[in-house]
Amino acid sequence: MLSYRHAFHAGNHADVLKHLMLVQVLDYFNRKDAPYWYIDTHAGAGAYPLDSEQASKLNESQSGIARLAGADGLPDTITRYLAVAGCGERLAPVYPGSPEFAHRVLRPQDAMRLFELHPADSRVLEAHFARAGKRVQVRAEDGFAALKSLLPPPTRRAVVLIDPPYEVKSDYDVLVRTLEEALRRFASGCYLVWYPVLARSESRALPDRLRQLAGDGFSWLSARLHVTPAQEDGPGMTGSGMFVFNPPYTLRATMEACMPVLHAHLGAAGGGFELDGEQL
Ligand code: SAM
Repeated sequence: MLSYRHAFHAGNHADVLKHLMLVQVLDYFNRKDAPYWYIDTHAGAGAYPLDSEQASKLNESQSGIARLAGADGLPDTITRYLAVAGCGERLAPVYPGSPEFAHRVLRPQDAMRLFELHPADSRVLEAHFARAGKRVQVRAEDGFAALKSLLPPPTRRAVVLIDPPYEVKSDYDVLVRTLEEALRRFASGCYLVWYPVLARSESRALPDRLRQLAGDGFSWLSARLHVTPAQEDGPGMTGSGMFVFNPPYTLRATMEACMPVLHAHLGAAGGGFELDGEQL
């Protein structure tokens, strides 16, 4: 069952947090000339016209990136994210998905491996990168299952984004098992995991499970943005989180500057943010 379509949510507060952190991590990887791989296990469609029927239905970008585009006095890292999104001055008509953000930041020596299981979105993603050459490979496969076959990558440097829809609750367990295996095979990879903040117990338990997985052996950083007050029950997403294994050592300081600003622009009264981590 694949009913989730990211087009309905493109550019919302969760995309802002996720893509802002992704751009920072990729910029950090670019500081060294050595090539790296960008692996996106749940890549989506690649780009989302904001006037499409799907995106217009809930207009989620209006309470997301639209509130930052053209704003004054933003920290450099938010300005950089907006520039990569093409939204420095005003909201662009098409919001980039995670693979397109990566494609805009990666250098010619870097490679991309993208997985998208939904047949329609994987076709759109393939068409999106049709002229990108061999260094961008799109596969209509289960990204959870495929990840281990790529690790360790030949470059021995990689950024992995794991961004499942969590529409089935087994995604939470599969995510943790996939990460366990990935960290065993390639302990020095930088893994970014996005997750929704929901009332459901699996979502509440996830940050602690990821923290346990990091144990004493891995550096980690956890950032959570609550755009509305947390709910005791109900299906609504009140915020989202990013958990990063082996983050760049610079990421905590830049997120300390960003989180209050993100909350001020995207959050409502009663929301908030949390930032936690350990750098070995
Ligand atoms: N990463 C994208 C971005 O930031 O632009 C958004 C991805 S969206 C949250 C999750 C995507 O995962 C959906 O397009 C869905 O079709 C796809 N998907 C669901 N299960 C999958 C699986 N097991 N393997 C690969 N893709 C999957």
